[in-house]
Amino acid sequence: MKRSLLVVLSVCAWFLPVAAEESRAKNVVLFLADAAGIPTINAASRMGYGAPQRLFVQRLPFIGLSDTSTASEWVTDSAAGMTAIVTGIKTHNGVIAQGPDAVRGTKDGTPLKTLLDYAEEHGLATGIISNDSIAGATPAALYAHANDRSRFAQIVVQAFETRSGDGLDVLIGSAASERAAAAAAGTDLDALAARAARPLYRTLDAVPADARRAFVFADGSEFDLQRAVDTAIAILSRQPNGYFLMVESDAHTDRPEQGLRHLVEFDRVIERVAQHASSDTLMLFTADHSFDLRIHDGRNGDSVLAGLDPASPRANPSLRLPNVRIDDTHTGEEVMVAASGPGASRVHGYLANTDLFHIMLDAWGWK
Ligand SMILES: [Zn+2]
Repeated sequence: MKRSLLVVLSVCAWFLPVAAEESRAKNVVLFLADAAGIPTINAASRMGYGAPQRLFVQRLPFIGLSDTSTASEWVTDSAAGMTAIVTGIKTHNGVIAQGPDAVRGTKDGTPLKTLLDYAEEHGLATGIISNDSIAGATPAALYAHANDRSRFAQIVVQAFETRSGDGLDVLIGSAASERAAAAAAGTDLDALAARAARPLYRTLDAVPADARRAFVFADGSEFDLQRAVDTAIAILSRQPNGYFLMVESDAHTDRPEQGLRHLVEFDRVIERVAQHASSDTLMLFTADHSFDLRIHDGRNGDSVLAGLDPASPRANPSLRLPNVRIDDTHTGEEVMVAASGPGASRVHGYLANTDLFHIMLDAWGWK
């Protein structure tokens, strides 16, 4: 008896470190559905599939609930929300990757190290995609420091600066207002890109098949998110050490048809990435905050957005439909987190938004 126990123990001692080693992530992909609270996820499933719980992200193996509050406010914006997720530190609304010693628009706070910095320091390839503005608060929280999210020119210039490692490798999004902001500040994105040796393209089609880096600044916000993600993963996978990729899809439902459609499309993108991702990829889906959309009525067979007037498709500031009511505001309740891959098992129960940073960092095994 004793002897067999010893054998079991020694086998475990030999086996456990190997098992722990195998459970590390090589790649981390963070899918951020901006403003996709649980009511929005519920409504998107009904709109896309006519039934609840049909989205791919709702079938991921590990699901938890994340608090979204800031260092001082109950209801977060994208700046403080994303800062918490990618730095592990809560700050105040409007502040981009600076500590809570920042005062919005007035005083810089302590610059915070982001997941992008960690990944670059460890020699990984890094990428950011947004179907919204590339200098918007969500992508900016990874590559910029600013005491106010509205400082677009100051923010977009930082995308070209090498803060850690060899700098950001892939950046894909809309840049119509950033070009104007840069021009107003006396800078030019093309000149900045040339100086920083970042190849800058206006369309995904223009990216060479063997690219190892690419910045794609589209002029409109509606572009093919699936192709953007395929392009980015192809580029990032050319580097051997693994990669960190953040993909943002806007799911604000102040325009409910657009917001819900974006979320259904984003969910399909995530499912496709999951089908092709290697087993050493941690995929994590969450929202930075919820939004005030509620299903308050309806029967099987109804259309979620029945009664929506195409001439006034916006909750400005409110929209009352037969089955849905919307107020154009973020809300403070928990959001869903869903994950698969190495480290994903820590996504369960109630979490803080800052926990997500540690889950991703620990998946790589970094301190
Ligand atoms: Zn947001």
